[in-house]
Amino acid sequence: MKVFLGLPAPRGFRGSSSGPAPRGFRESAPESAHAPRGVGHLRADEEFPVAARRALSDTQLRRNLGKATGTIRAKRARVVAELPDWEELRAAGQAIKAETMAHLDSYLQQLETNVTGRGGTVHWARDAIEANNIVTGLVQAAGATEVVKVKSLATDEIGLNDALAAAGIAAHETDLAELIVQLGRDRPSHILVPAIHRNRAEIREIFLREMGDVDPGLSDDPAALAEAARRHLRRKFLSATVGISGANFAVAETGALCVVESEGNGRMCVTLPRTLITVMGIEKVIPRWADLGVFLQLLPRSSTGERMNPYTSMWTGVTPGDGPQSVHLVLLDNGRTAALADPVGRAALHCIRCSACLNVCPVYERTGGHAYGSVYPGPIGAVLSPLLTGVEDNASLPYASSLCGACYEVCPVKIDIPSILVHLRGRHVDAAREHRKVPSAEAITMAAASWVMADPARYAAAQAAGRSGRLLARRGKISALPPPLAGWTRARDAPVPPAQTFRQWWRSQHGDDDQAPPIHEAGPINKAGPMDEAGPSDQAGQSGPAERDGR
Ligand code: SF4
Repeated sequence: MKVFLGLPAPRGFRGSSSGPAPRGFRESAPESAHAPRGVGHLRADEEFPVAARRALSDTQLRRNLGKATGTIRAKRARVVAELPDWEELRAAGQAIKAETMAHLDSYLQQLETNVTGRGGTVHWARDAIEANNIVTGLVQAAGATEVVKVKSLATDEIGLNDALAAAGIAAHETDLAELIVQLGRDRPSHILVPAIHRNRAEIREIFLREMGDVDPGLSDDPAALAEAARRHLRRKFLSATVGISGANFAVAETGALCVVESEGNGRMCVTLPRTLITVMGIEKVIPRWADLGVFLQLLPRSSTGERMNPYTSMWTGVTPGDGPQSVHLVLLDNGRTAALADPVGRAALHCIRCSACLNVCPVYERTGGHAYGSVYPGPIGAVLSPLLTGVEDNASLPYASSLCGACYEVCPVKIDIPSILVHLRGRHVDAAREHRKVPSAEAITMAAASWVMADPARYAAAQAAGRSGRLLARRGKISALPPPLAGWTRARDAPVPPAQTFRQWWRSQHGDDDQAPPIHEAGPINKAGPMDEAGPSDQAGQSGPAERDGR
């Protein structure tokens, strides 16, 4: 079968009778359409709960994260509130992305035609290994041993810097936060602010230690730190002959590539070097030039909380005598067509990497990005990483969420992350069930619960039995349940069962349980019903994290 990266060939392509396969099409399906193991940064060395527990004990990290995410959250809320048509913009962004994914094969071919028509070269990379080989070969062909880089999640994802280093090529990150991460031999922990886990005193120490030419009297004043980075990078910009970038958007209709950024380093990288190589996930294509008008309103407000980002660079192929004269676009699959094949999960490919979902996530805010073990942390990482690698390789991530829904509320393209999380949990449970000879304790518990809830009499008896839990209550909460429920209270309190069930309360009020209307017609039961009787302290541990934070 002919396949397009991981996808079947597009409509109208009839296999060998149509002649040779178009660029990007394979004669046979790859063994696995997921991102390969052993290369790149999509898989964690340890499961999320283990890494998260360690992160939670780092008070400095939590302080840095709380301050940074709180600031960005407030800025975003302010500028979003200014736009009366914000919801319409979100709906437009969602619709454009859905349409793009439905015809991804056609739009990518249109993009290739228009990039090559303007003098650029398009390369198709099935996975991280192919992409790294392509880029390394292009840098070597240009005779370069150093490159300057624009901040790019796609190149972080495939581990490009490691691959270049193995070939004797030094890659210099030019985004300030990426530079801090690189000099600190660290890992990014946020999509937008990769060094969010560092405070300025730590950054000063890194600069003093790693920048050979820095003033020893450097202070930790942000302007002084930025100036030191500027001086350090200026020399790299002026000497590098190859620039490497990602792309926020690629317009199929024109072949234009677009990078948005705040520091101007990106513009230096995409204009000064003779050779420019862009590595872009295939989901970043958008159909029309006019679509940029939607995304360039959604992205800056959602990411940095700005009305418009300071630098928007666009280039289309080669312009003789102006800018890079050798322009390459590497289209990266690396598990994306596997994600596209999942009818629920494919919405994760709509992501425009604004990071708004990270900044509102109560889990991310407490653990930081390293606990996710992937270049994609936070809520979007908890769905995107398992989709790219296969759920079995990132099985703990879909559980790294309270399902509070804050991520969905802020997402500029309305990705329903909570539903995808639940879907991926289901896929994980189903896969685990298939491999088990003996049902797990959880499966047995769920089967028992299903049996109890299927019969009103059994359910009523179980509720009556559950009230015995009141004997375990101390000061309005249950802090320790006996086995096999002990795991539930290891990290949280359990609510005290109310003294009276809803059915009992209804019967006491109306005398006939069978006539009970649906709950939504029964009125505000918590005004006079068993909830109030149980007292406020009985509800300990039931409010969501967002409520607790007053968000
Ligand atoms: S999922 Fe939505 S909110 Fe999160 S980074 Fe992507 S576009 Fe932004």
